[in-house]
Amino acid sequence: MKESIQQLKPYIPEEPISRLKERLGLTKLVRFSANENPYGTSPQVKEAVLAYVCSHDSSQYPDSYAASLRTAIADFIKVPAESLVIGVGLDEVITLLSRAFLTAGDSIVISTPTFSEYALNGQLEGAIIKGVPCNEVTGATDLDGMVAAIDETTKLVWLCNPNNPTGTYVSVEAIRKFMKQIPKEVLVLIDEAYIEFVTSVEAPSALPLLAEFENIGIMRTFSKAYGLANYRVGYLVLGQGLVNYVQTIRLPYNLNSVSQVAAEAALGDQAFIRHVVAANAVARDSWEACLMQWGLHYYASEANFLFVEFKSPEEAKAVADMWLRAGYQVRMGLRPQWLRITIGQAEDCKAMQQLLGQFLGTCTM
Ligand SMILES: *Cc1c(COP(=O)(O)O)cnc(C)c1O
Repeated sequence: MKESIQQLKPYIPEEPISRLKERLGLTKLVRFSANENPYGTSPQVKEAVLAYVCSHDSSQYPDSYAASLRTAIADFIKVPAESLVIGVGLDEVITLLSRAFLTAGDSIVISTPTFSEYALNGQLEGAIIKGVPCNEVTGATDLDGMVAAIDETTKLVWLCNPNNPTGTYVSVEAIRKFMKQIPKEVLVLIDEAYIEFVTSVEAPSALPLLAEFENIGIMRTFSKAYGLANYRVGYLVLGQGLVNYVQTIRLPYNLNSVSQVAAEAALGDQAFIRHVVAANAVARDSWEACLMQWGLHYYASEANFLFVEFKSPEEAKAVADMWLRAGYQVRMGLRPQWLRITIGQAEDCKAMQQLLGQFLGTCTM
């Protein structure tokens, strides 16, 4: 057994909803703990998948290059098709990048808290994880602190934007300034898993920086705003100098044809994305107003979730349990006494907010 693996804490995946419902004896359970899309998936995805499945059998390997999906993505975000690596979710992309660029003794720089897969995959390769705490009060990523944490061992810098779990967003201008301070040998990876949900600026993506810096990669996924988590499709955009290294270590048939068809159909329905993003922004406002009213500390979110602080770990757990009994599961354990709440549809948000109001109005914890 590799020593680096013996020390790992594995990612704990969500328990399937059906099993959890049975275990808790609930008739209704909505998962607001994994930032999945509460508005489901574009109906065009179902149509495309059915049409594909009806006209093909499964005896042949999929298109290794995912050419049709690749062209659609490249056209949509206006990058060369060769600059894309399409993975089985961003999870695979994060694994590929770590495997390609990290050797034992290297280091990676992350903001904390952030998505756990960067550190997990770094540790797997024997890398040292340098975590730079975000601003306690605002949740803002400490970009200057991240620059300062870089040394000659640093190979990768991960910047999740908006960041999971804080929900905070870093502007393109701030990233540009940040990039100017990063040594050319260090690759900066911007995880834009939630970029569609940003509504405070017109053009929130760091994609334009690809033309200005060679040492930047941008990652996107179909799992969140596109509501395609089950099909596992994510992609990386990387400059010509580096992209082939990642392509080389990708498994040749990583992405099955149904997923390729589904993602292309999802990309084609931008009206669905506009609807999801607009509804999420309204529900997000209602949550923020509610949290403010109850005097709870939270971070201003540009994503489809909110990170909220309670008075004590006991109170956070009591709130999570109270919601769970009512059929709403939220995410605990990312930080003591904080909960991450995926923003649901208006009706569910309202029900959760009422329950929270009752709890805080009556509890003496
Ligand atoms: C959900 C999430 C991912 C994982 O995306 P998949 O494409 O489903 O593997 C990647 N990064 C962040 C920050 C996420 O929250």
